Amino acid sequence: DKFKKGLSKTRNNFSSKVNDLVAKYRKVDEDFFEELEEILIGADVGVNTVMELIEELEMEVKRRNIKDTSEMREVISEKLVEIYQGDENEGVQELNVNNDGLSVVLFVGVNGVGKTTTIGKMAHRLKQEGKTVMLAAGDTFRAGAIEQLEVWGERVGVDVIKHSAGSDPAAVVYDAVQAAKARGVDVLLCDTAGRLQNKVNLMNELSKVKKVISREVPDAPHDVMLVLDATTGQNAMSQAKTFSETTDVTGIVLTKLDGTAKGGIVLAIRNELNIPVKYVGLGEKMTDLQTFDPDAFVYGLFA
Ligand code: GDP
Repeated sequence: DKFKKGLSKTRNNFSSKVNDLVAKYRKVDEDFFEELEEILIGADVGVNTVMELIEELEMEVKRRNIKDTSEMREVISEKLVEIYQGDENEGVQELNVNNDGLSVVLFVGVNGVGKTTTIGKMAHRLKQEGKTVMLAAGDTFRAGAIEQLEVWGERVGVDVIKHSAGSDPAAVVYDAVQAAKARGVDVLLCDTAGRLQNKVNLMNELSKVKKVISREVPDAPHDVMLVLDATTGQNAMSQAKTFSETTDVTGIVLTKLDGTAKGGIVLAIRNELNIPVKYVGLGEKMTDLQTFDPDAFVYGLFA
């Protein structure tokens, strides 16, 4: 229900346009496809993904000998789901954490995308599932980042390990891992600095943090979650490209989906980068983090 509500802007934008389109063109022809293309690009589905989708749709229309546009809503939904899932059909994907022993998850992303908020929400979510959680204040660069994480720690009721501003993030994470082991914590969520201005520094910092984690905990980090802001559209896409070049991103959290009519960015990210969108942010509250369900998302667009 929350998922539906959070997507209302995207849904209203997309479904009303598709409905108008179906009413305007009764026959499936070139003009129909041309306008559909515009609608999809307008919803931030991304040019490459749109081209692929239109091609698939044209083939399907031929194959099934579809003449009437009223049948197209169903066909578009089917193809959108297919495009999202590729050959894998993974469905909903949760955070990759162990059932016993310490799991470590790294959060990366540029400032302002909602990284700190997402870590807070995730801590709450895991706690609700009965897990013990700890936070590592690994963003020692952005002013106020440490304090902000502490506020979330208090709100959710989990410990935060920190050093002073400007200190070495790898040292913070090392301490956090030791503390998490000592206290028998299930999941350690690590914040990191998000300066994209200097790609080499960022890469060095992230790889140092990762090295510390994997040395101290077998199979860690268990997930590297890239946090992206859905309202930034194609900018989010280019951030995703840059981060996946600098580090092995294993999952995406797409925040602020409630604040945009262009939720199609989810499809573009999945299709063009082949990284699963695991969670979406649908508001500023602790409870506003939901798993991403591709079926519910696509069919919800027409609901
Ligand atoms: P960070 O710099 O990446 O750590 O970003 P913050 O966590 O400080 O978030 C930046 C702003 O975005 C804050 O005002 C958050 O409340 C807001 N925010 C984060 N996630 C969401 C979301 O899913 N929906 C909405 N509407 N706002 C969000």
